[in-house]
Amino acid sequence: MAGKIIDGKSLAAKFKEDIKREVGQLKEKHKVTPLLTAIQVGENPASRVYIKNQKKSCEEMGIDYQLHELPEATSEEELLQFVEKLNTDDKVTGIILQMPLPQQINGRRVQMAITPMKDVEGMNPSNMGMLVYGSPRLAPCTALAAMELLNSTGVDIKGKEVTVVGHSEIVGKPITLFLLSSILESATPTVCHIATRDLASHTRNAEILIVAVGKAGLIKGDMIKQGAIVIDVGINRVPVLDEKGKPVLSNEGKPKMKTVGDVVFEEAVEKASYITPVPGGVGPLTVVMLLRNTLTACKWQREKK
Ligand code: NAD
Repeated sequence: MAGKIIDGKSLAAKFKEDIKREVGQLKEKHKVTPLLTAIQVGENPASRVYIKNQKKSCEEMGIDYQLHELPEATSEEELLQFVEKLNTDDKVTGIILQMPLPQQINGRRVQMAITPMKDVEGMNPSNMGMLVYGSPRLAPCTALAAMELLNSTGVDIKGKEVTVVGHSEIVGKPITLFLLSSILESATPTVCHIATRDLASHTRNAEILIVAVGKAGLIKGDMIKQGAIVIDVGINRVPVLDEKGKPVLSNEGKPKMKTVGDVVFEEAVEKASYITPVPGGVGPLTVVMLLRNTLTACKWQREKK
């Protein structure tokens, strides 16, 4: 029997309702409106799309959104000074640094300079540290999204064999820390990465498999345990192929492209008990987690006053 599809879009819609209601309450009771401030240095077409989506999502929630565009030649020192100005501006409740940054800027240094209370991407070492302690306040959005999708199945993670493929700072590592965040109720995670010798032996052992690599077709059906929960975080653009395996061309003669995850969905769905699709799984929820973090950050600052 094919696995149940975990619908990221409808879960996202549910979370959005809650966020919108809470933002409304903040405004009504405390006359406070969250303000998410994005910093973009130089020009980047990919971040343009993110910025457009962030703005639209914020508007839907009643959250104010502001974009600061700095020139490509901005130095790291200038950017750090700019961040400091936002850190101390009471109206700004959340700060997001659009990636990639120009070469002359060390992104990690700047991310570390964002005050933890406004760090809506959850990347400040202090927020990461709270995740290590098992009591995160602001955590990386994609990791939060993957955990919410997993929680939505209602399956208890306690003691479960979970394989996380990918160990990046924004996805794989924080997911692993979430899986370990309760002293008595934690899962048993195994973390795989580029240097893992026999990936399939680890994925086949997983009752829950979370994949965040960025390689289409990495996880095939025979690498999945029967009945496993599969969360596919990967986003890859690949050409659409016809039945002979040739690229399908658009009217302009260019190869048609589609978005897929790291998991071969058609094979995996036959083995999994639950599975996230790509698109429509982790992606829609990640944006919502950014909005939820923005709300959390705003409430945190209010409590501190
Ligand atoms: P990254 O490049 O920082 O990390 C990739 C990880 O995969 C590393 O840990 C690396 O060791 C591991 N890896 C690479 N090749 C491997 C292999 N053959 N076998 C096992 N592990 C291997 O990437 P990231 O930023 O963590 O993103 C991972 C994927 O998730 C990408 O496709 C990205 O687009 C996607 N992503 C999706 C969202 C979303 O909202 N859905 C958000 C962030 C990232």
